Amino acid sequence: MPYFTYDEPLFRPPAEANSAIIQATLGCSWNRCAFCEMYTSKKFKVRKLEDLKPEIETLSKIYLGAKKVFLADGNAFVLSASNLIPILEEINKHFGRIQRVSSYALPKDILSKSDDELKNIRDLGLKILYIGIETGDDELLRLINKGETSQSTVDGILKAHNAGIETSIMIINGLGGKGYSDQHAVNSAKIINRINPKFLSTLTLSMPFGEKHFIDRFQGKYIPLSVIELFEELKTFIGLTDLNNVIYRSNHVSNNLNLQGTLSKDKVNLIEQLARAIIETPKGLYPSSPLML
Ligand code: SF4
Repeated sequence: MPYFTYDEPLFRPPAEANSAIIQATLGCSWNRCAFCEMYTSKKFKVRKLEDLKPEIETLSKIYLGAKKVFLADGNAFVLSASNLIPILEEINKHFGRIQRVSSYALPKDILSKSDDELKNIRDLGLKILYIGIETGDDELLRLINKGETSQSTVDGILKAHNAGIETSIMIINGLGGKGYSDQHAVNSAKIINRINPKFLSTLTLSMPFGEKHFIDRFQGKYIPLSVIELFEELKTFIGLTDLNNVIYRSNHVSNNLNLQGTLSKDKVNLIEQLARAIIETPKGLYPSSPLML
């Protein structure tokens, strides 16, 4: 068996648990979101094709028969089309009949590519992008320093969809605390309704380095939400969605309630589960902060 090591820490979406992982970039090119500590220990780097070629060949032997490849790290889709295309060609050469390639992306990484480049990338097998939009609320996007607006987010995602690339979108429950909860829920539902992604998931705000560390980076007044208030925010959000066949999951380690279904078909059922949880959860209970995974 060939030997291989990754540049740690390494993250991948839960749905990529059985995928071969190729680190086309290291770290995150943005690395400035107030709530995110995933890559703060890493300096962003684009890896050279000549270094990736032997790795792709080795990984194709380790993950023999793998159906999916995930390009790491934080937003490998930041790579220009001229950098990305040879990597995808190399993956196709060594992995053979691969089902799909995926990566994390920021909306600006999509907008920086032309329609033709995106279609070319799609034809080479990159079929899904994981995008943490976090919220659809412009004030909150600014306060968390996301580097995107609701409009750039919609434009980027619809551009990917137009090229045949599907998206899996993440929203963070509790992102702005009590002061921004209503606008976060309302505007996040509005943006999701505009983009109608293939997959949608909600995570709960985690503070692996503690609340003070987060507050120092959050540019607004942050008042934490209790578990009941988190459920209420999520209930408002789901209640306002109007979607066509979106696969929804809220089953991240950070979530206090495991939810899954298809929106809007299962909307009433999801809202009932949240309403029950609101009644059954003790008042004044606050979430612990699990390590972000
Ligand atoms: S949330 Fe995403 S874009 Fe923001 S710093 Fe973390 S990895 Fe980078």
